[in-house]
Amino acid sequence: MPTCPGCACLCDDIEVVGAEIRNVCRKGYGIFKSRQKSRLTAAVADRVTDVDAAIEKAAEILCEASSPVIYGLDNSTCEAQRLGLKLAKELNAFVDDTSSVCQGVILEAIYKSRLPSCTLDAVRDNADLVIFWGADPASSHPRHLSKYSYFPRGKKIQKGYEERKAFCIDVRRSPTAEVCKNLVKIPAGADAALINALISFIEGKAPQLPQGTDKREVMELAAAMRRAEFVTIFTGLGLVYSLADVTLLETLLRTLTERCGCEAYIIPMVGHFNMRGMTQTLFKETSLPNKVKFDGGGAKSGASMTEILREGFADAALIIGSDPLSSLPFAAARRLFEIKTITIDPHVTPTTEISTVRIPCAISGVECSGNTVRMDGVEVKLEKMFDVEFLSDEEILRGILERV
Ligand code: SF4
Repeated sequence: MPTCPGCACLCDDIEVVGAEIRNVCRKGYGIFKSRQKSRLTAAVADRVTDVDAAIEKAAEILCEASSPVIYGLDNSTCEAQRLGLKLAKELNAFVDDTSSVCQGVILEAIYKSRLPSCTLDAVRDNADLVIFWGADPASSHPRHLSKYSYFPRGKKIQKGYEERKAFCIDVRRSPTAEVCKNLVKIPAGADAALINALISFIEGKAPQLPQGTDKREVMELAAAMRRAEFVTIFTGLGLVYSLADVTLLETLLRTLTERCGCEAYIIPMVGHFNMRGMTQTLFKETSLPNKVKFDGGGAKSGASMTEILREGFADAALIIGSDPLSSLPFAAARRLFEIKTITIDPHVTPTTEISTVRIPCAISGVECSGNTVRMDGVEVKLEKMFDVEFLSDEEILRGILERV
């Protein structure tokens, strides 16, 4: 069955019947609907051209640049990502993606075996306690709760949500908290203090509760953790931005396993459908999940796209399937107005609007096929659902690579 590329849940039970798309959530439906809206046209310096001429100009700009950066690729197939990295090597370029401002730190800890992780299928089958920490999947990954983490019946958890406890740890009552019922409300930035309090509870010591938390809510969560046999913590940006590093999370999971004898895992709530694929591929090649600088055939730690732009490290940018002008701080992103920018994207975005070269591409997973990696590391195949005249980003990158 076709797969939805709307988020890193990669729901693989989509049905296309004529013009009707079945089983997608509202967010996924938006991806399919976007096929008819704001499609990008090939252009060089604001002049409409054909795709070949745009590819030619892109290669020329990249060859002339003394310090190019390749950014994005989280909404591309693994095949396109590998070509993007090959191009970066060829050009001695910086490479970065959105993981450097979101789940990169958690993903790196998983790849380095500092944080244990499991699959979403294992969660559905076995988890008797799930915790959404600084995450709101009811809004960001709409079918996550029904397909994997809360409602469904599993091999061991046969009564689904009737048997499984779910907690939200958040600064507000999110839509997910409304569904799960159990909310531990914390002030912004109190996550580390809460982890310390939970570790103390589990170790049987008197905990120091973070200021502004409700003692009963924290005690209920700690008690559920002590009783659970299979715990999964889904980490959202609320948690990632609040912690200095993953050491405390590592200690919490280890304490749970050693003191309570349960299985305890982390799954990052990855947003873009193939951010996990991008970081995994980069990590396998360079031992770094993002912020890489290729140099003379080798790779070293580079800088995030925000730093690259803010500090003026790059004189040309190739952006694939991303809109940094909207998503990065404007103080950094404004530099895109000054350097030569090439954008490969299915749609018109603020970044394509200011780009020197615009190259339209097919929507991965809808208009072209390929492989991708789900948020839990499971590989999923994307099948093309509609024939279009657009090239895939893989074909475009291959065209640039052949010319540099
Ligand atoms: S949850 Fe994500 S992958 Fe599943 S249908 Fe919705 S947008 Fe698509």
